[in-house]
Amino acid sequence: MTMKPLDLFGIDALLSDEERDIQATVRRLVDERLRPQLPEWFESGTLPKEIARELGGLGLFGMHLQGYGCAGTNAVSYGLACLELEAGDSGLRSFVSVQGSLSMFSIHRYGSEEQKQEWLPRLASGEALGCFGLTEPDFGSNPAGMRTRARRDGADWILDGTKMWITNGSLADVATVWAQTDDGVRGFVVPTNTPGFTANTVHGKLSMRASVTSELVLDGVRLPVSAMLPEARGLGAPLSCLNEARFGIVFGALGAARDSLETAIAYAGTREVFDRPLAGYQLTQEKLADMTLELGKGMLLAIQLGRMKDRGEISPDQISVGKLNNVREAIAIARECRTILGANGITLEYSPLRHANNLESVLTYEGTSEMHLLSIGRALTGHAAFR
Ligand SMILES: Cc1cc2nc3c(=O)[nH]c(=O)nc-3n(C[C@H](O)[C@H](O)[C@H](O)COP(=O)(O)OP(=O)(O)OC[C@H]3O[C@@H](n4cnc5c(N)ncnc54)[C@H](O)[C@@H]3O)c2cc1C
Repeated sequence: MTMKPLDLFGIDALLSDEERDIQATVRRLVDERLRPQLPEWFESGTLPKEIARELGGLGLFGMHLQGYGCAGTNAVSYGLACLELEAGDSGLRSFVSVQGSLSMFSIHRYGSEEQKQEWLPRLASGEALGCFGLTEPDFGSNPAGMRTRARRDGADWILDGTKMWITNGSLADVATVWAQTDDGVRGFVVPTNTPGFTANTVHGKLSMRASVTSELVLDGVRLPVSAMLPEARGLGAPLSCLNEARFGIVFGALGAARDSLETAIAYAGTREVFDRPLAGYQLTQEKLADMTLELGKGMLLAIQLGRMKDRGEISPDQISVGKLNNVREAIAIARECRTILGANGITLEYSPLRHANNLESVLTYEGTSEMHLLSIGRALTGHAAFR
């Protein structure tokens, strides 16, 4: 009788019935409806927009937000959904994270009632897609330097600038765009059919291929005064949205790690080397045991952070701890699992290398590992070493 890696930590006992139900539902959706097509989407570098309706129908978009057609679950349930999506592919989890935690959260938290009524129900159902434009070609880790500018022209705003690496950019119906104004950084809700708005898909990616990544060009985009997010003042607003998405990654990355580990354990059980199963060798068992420890510790950390978030007690530095640790360990696990698969491990038939490649992006976006190290360093010492 064998055990699953997370059973060694008794993780299920830490979850409520509802949390376990949500997790099982998302796992079923991924395994039955999405997983069979993931290698093909990864190879062709696409993610079909049509899956949005199915994900929306299950309440996965903005699922931790209240009202406006959102499911209103707790943070742990949202995290578990992210984990199961990312057990399929980080591109799937990114699709849902950007829609719920960046696009919808920015409107839900900082928007006018009119903006919320106009966009949130459609975004929640998957009828519309959103994206979030903060990063620019020359400003990623330091978004304070952004060059995108919004200026007043009579009753209107005019936006000019370029955003880069924007997930779902070419698929989106609405973009939350951050720009410098005379009044500091402000956010704007930009319907993507506004004249002067163009989204160009980034090609040639070696990571996060089952996800659409785009450049957004804003060339004299004219918007009514009502397009500004009234409650978002300064860089703290977009950074708070990133915190929401980062929380999903704390759980999500572990999905990629768990799927890699389960794949490697199954493979090692059937692959014979030197006349007996690879799983029977001590070197293999050491790898599997070490990876299981990191996966389980990461899961305990994620659940602890989730419970803190549900109590309203979590700080950005604490989310940095989870994002840094769990993504770093997940990529190490995915790479180690690939070694167990030998040459078969470099094909799309098995998930670990696809996960490892995707996790390169996850290490970089929502704050690079270096930024999170610096945040934790600042929390510990009181000295900011960013510049
Ligand atoms: C697939 C993908 C999807 C993305 N989706 C979105 C999206 O939807 N919306 C969005 O706005 N952005 C998105 N991004 C952009 C992402 O957030 C940025 O790439 C990230 O913030 C890093 O910025 P950069 O790439 O410009 O790297 P840089 O900021 O140029 O950093 C380069 C390297 O320098 C290091 N570094 C920077 N500053 C310091 C320092 N002070 N000390 C030491 N090291 C430092 C970094 O850690 C990194 O290793 C996405 C990126 C990817 C890859």
